[in-house]
Amino acid sequence: MSVTLEQIAAEAAACPRCRLRETRTQVVFGVGHPHADLLFIGEGPGFHEDKQGEPFVGAAGQLLNRMLSEIGLRREDVYIANVVKCRPPGNRDPRPDEIEACTPWLTEQIRLIDPRIVVTLGNFATRFILDTKASISRVRGRRFDWRGRSVIPTFHPAAILHGGGERSSAFRSLQADFAEIRRALDEPIVVPEAQPAEPADRAGATGPAVAAEDPGSEQLGLF
Ligand code: URA
Repeated sequence: MSVTLEQIAAEAAACPRCRLRETRTQVVFGVGHPHADLLFIGEGPGFHEDKQGEPFVGAAGQLLNRMLSEIGLRREDVYIANVVKCRPPGNRDPRPDEIEACTPWLTEQIRLIDPRIVVTLGNFATRFILDTKASISRVRGRRFDWRGRSVIPTFHPAAILHGGGERSSAFRSLQADFAEIRRALDEPIVVPEAQPAEPADRAGATGPAVAAEDPGSEQLGLF
């Protein structure tokens, strides 16, 4: 019998894998449709998320909800998760060993949800997922192919709130990126015709992620 997202969440709820277990109120595993086409990935839970056990429930979450509704979606239509599932004390950045300990949960989420589109929110999630040092300003709104999925990076809603809000040009970029997400969702699913595998095809299948739209000279890989 195959494992479900609920079973993985129940297991994660008692996760002992890193020091964040000592300071968390609870594990914030993720929320939303278990087979969503669209998966959002943030950095890690903050104060409110740690208290409520759900990602993006604070001010940044309110803005995320608004952006979703602007493209005709509700939280229940998508899945929302973070790179790390426990709040780092004082909202510091997660440390490399904490990320490494937590990555198997995210890997399982992606495998089980099997989203067509992954939206990375902000520098942290984008750099982690695309294994790049590129800044979010450079890659936002583009599509990156990875193992049959599209990754679309955009600004973290908290960065918009701290950087001028709705009057900022970053907010207009966020709106443009959500319009791009909507376009990607509306595109028909293309099932490639079965081809006899050539040795070269097999080699390519395990290659690094490739930007659908050229992001410059850099080639982006994934974890
Ligand atoms: N910021 C994040 O990256 N994730 C949350 O869940 C909340 C705020």
